[in-house]
Amino acid sequence: MTQYLWTPPAVQSLPVRGMTERLPINRLFFVGRNYHAHAVEMGRPVDKTVERPFYFTKAPQTLTESGATVAYPPETSNYHFEMEMVVAIGKPGFRVKAEDAHDIIFGYGAGLDMTRRDLQLVARDKGRPWDLGKDVEQSSVCSEIVPMPGVVIDQGEIALEVNGVTKQKSNVDKLIWNVREIIADLSLFYHLQPGDLIYTGTPEGVGAVLAGDKISGRVEGVSEVSLTVGSAE
Ligand code: MN
Repeated sequence: MTQYLWTPPAVQSLPVRGMTERLPINRLFFVGRNYHAHAVEMGRPVDKTVERPFYFTKAPQTLTESGATVAYPPETSNYHFEMEMVVAIGKPGFRVKAEDAHDIIFGYGAGLDMTRRDLQLVARDKGRPWDLGKDVEQSSVCSEIVPMPGVVIDQGEIALEVNGVTKQKSNVDKLIWNVREIIADLSLFYHLQPGDLIYTGTPEGVGAVLAGDKISGRVEGVSEVSLTVGSAE
């Protein structure tokens, strides 16, 4: 039995619909600019004929369960919501062919990729890493995972409201790189593992939240996610 100086951090996990066992989380991957209208609103249109998808990661410790209240984070004055469909990987996969991608899917969730937009844009424009903008404590929000082994979701409304007002409304059929293509491409770079989550990107309509705001979102046919933004510490 390995002896540690102090108790190691707990494994991050999410509830699984219909099961008592929780899904243990391995890594958190995020696809950048994966809806055309969002890419345009960020001032960086995507031409799929000459570009590949790109990714960033967040520490698993940033994972936060739907329904939480989180403090407005430090060192930002432009904290943004991004509503995303989340794919949960259930089997190992390396250099997975797009036509085989369904084999490693465990299920799906509804997620929020909360972002310090001011810091992300400074980093982007100065050619610096995105960590301070993206790898924010409590910023990777996710619903329960809905088991759908072998299922590829290629359509369904994705929407988000803040205080009941619709801010984002699109359809996952507008993903620039779809679920099969993302798994095929990401698995060229990484040995995907059970418990990896892939946040597939956000549609247009992203915007800032304020302390006290209540965010709610959903992916049709999957689940709902909610988050309350508390006061700054
Ligand atoms: Mn995102």
